[in-house]
Amino acid sequence: LFSGRVEFLKSAPALQFLPDPDAPEIAFAGRSNVGKSSLLNALTGRRSIARASVTPGRTQELNFFDVGGLEEGGPPVLRLVDMPGYGFAKAPPKVVENWKRLVRDFLRGRDVLRRTLVLIDSRHGPKKVDVEMMEMLDQSAVGYRLVLTKADKIKASDLAAVKAATEAEARKHPAAYPEVLVTSSELKMGIDELRAAVLADAEI
Ligand code: GDP
Repeated sequence: LFSGRVEFLKSAPALQFLPDPDAPEIAFAGRSNVGKSSLLNALTGRRSIARASVTPGRTQELNFFDVGGLEEGGPPVLRLVDMPGYGFAKAPPKVVENWKRLVRDFLRGRDVLRRTLVLIDSRHGPKKVDVEMMEMLDQSAVGYRLVLTKADKIKASDLAAVKAATEAEARKHPAAYPEVLVTSSELKMGIDELRAAVLADAEI
């Protein structure tokens, strides 16, 4: 599927700009700088389909990418949703407030959303802001998976410990998958497994 059509569809700064709900969606969430753009690029096999969030103010949009499907403008087989990054240190309260409203409303109301993937930096494991994101997801009707990123950045023994800690956190959350995926966009590690999980979750 990912070797065919993959294209940016649109950005939605507010719910009235969402695309028609005509395809199953998988959303990607994570702290700013967690490696979300890199992982979306690795997943889709594209060099720069997703771009890194440059400044906090520019991150308050949901970005939609169409994967598969025959004609341009027609419905895709799968739609990926790049959610705005969270946890940036110097964001003004109003920005945080807007982020919360957009993400919460999207998660609650989006019938075609099949799963959210919450990305967590392997070097840090789940932080307070990640747990807050998980709590928000627990309150929506959509299950989610935790995905460790940048696994090449730490030693194998440390990675095993972070994975165990992340799995322990997952078990505290009713809507979280108990298994944690481990990835490195740099080494293309865990990318096939991630693709398989995305397709299974989207029921493709
Ligand atoms: P985003 O803000 O979550 O979209 O994060 P980016 O994808 O822009 O990545 C943030 C930084 O981490 C960039 O400097 C990337 O090159 C780096 N990065 C992302 N993924 C990996 C990875 O798997 N391994 C390593 N070593 N660095 C990564």
